[in-house]
Amino acid sequence: MASKITFIGAGNMASAIIGGLIESGVSPSDITATAPNDSELAPLKARLGIHTHTDNSAAVSGADVVVLAVKPQIMRGVCEALRDSVQQQAPLVMSIAAGLDADTIDQWLGGGNALVRCMPNTPSLVGIGASGLYANAAVSDAQRTLATQLMEAVGIVEWVDEERLLDAVTAVSGSAPAYFFLMFEAMEEAAVKLGLPADTARRLAIQTALGASTMAQRSDKDPATLKQNVMSPGGTTERAIHHMEEAHLRTIIADAMNACAERADAMS
Ligand code: NAD
Repeated sequence: MASKITFIGAGNMASAIIGGLIESGVSPSDITATAPNDSELAPLKARLGIHTHTDNSAAVSGADVVVLAVKPQIMRGVCEALRDSVQQQAPLVMSIAAGLDADTIDQWLGGGNALVRCMPNTPSLVGIGASGLYANAAVSDAQRTLATQLMEAVGIVEWVDEERLLDAVTAVSGSAPAYFFLMFEAMEEAAVKLGLPADTARRLAIQTALGASTMAQRSDKDPATLKQNVMSPGGTTERAIHHMEEAHLRTIIADAMNACAERADAMS
């Protein structure tokens, strides 16, 4: 990827993506990050060797991709101040902000921009993220490839054809790390009641989730088959799964995901 990439905002998400890009072979000299203060940028510059700037408009000059990585509450002001430089430069604009739709951001930037909206999740911070991407009509195939490469620096990428499907992405991956954290909490609590020390229970539950994910990822079998494979008739796993099905765990998950997607829709 020999493109010039500018990150507006240099916080958690931006630094994770920048770190991933450099690890995947992108030259630090092709990357610029901005923030209001040099005090935040200096450690990033020292650690990663990228360019930094406190002037957003100047940082957009010469960029092929501009990644908007500021908090949603300040996005409007940041975009409106960038309007002239973005209109002049015409880069691919990528927004990773939660709850702001592509048209709104495009309008704040003066309209007619090639814009990709991305819904990442927090495991991106450890390089195992899952991002859903949506491109507006102005995005070229080459720019799609660029956007894919960018977010693949911190995990997997799935494209959706309609922007409203990003609400479903929010339900299945954006908000979903917390579902698994809840599961860890519940398993730890139950294991403690069964007599295990809490830290032992926590390590076992977390490692088991990692193992199950890795198996599911590497196997050509679907999750239902993998589940069946660990259930022998009359055995312990069958008893546990039977209990979960009887308690309508699937319905609970579906209801929670519907509520999540509805909230995402209301916010954008
Ligand atoms: P953060 O607070 O860590 O980073 C925000 C950055 O913006 C900081 O570097 C800050 O100095 C900078 N900033 C503030 N005002 C600025 C300005 N006027 N110009 C340029 N930079 C400015 O936030 P984050 O967690 O990295 O989140 C960034 C975006 O990513 C948000 O829009 C959020 O919705 C989205 N997002 C984050 C996560 C996540 O896991 N953290 C997940 C999904 C989406």
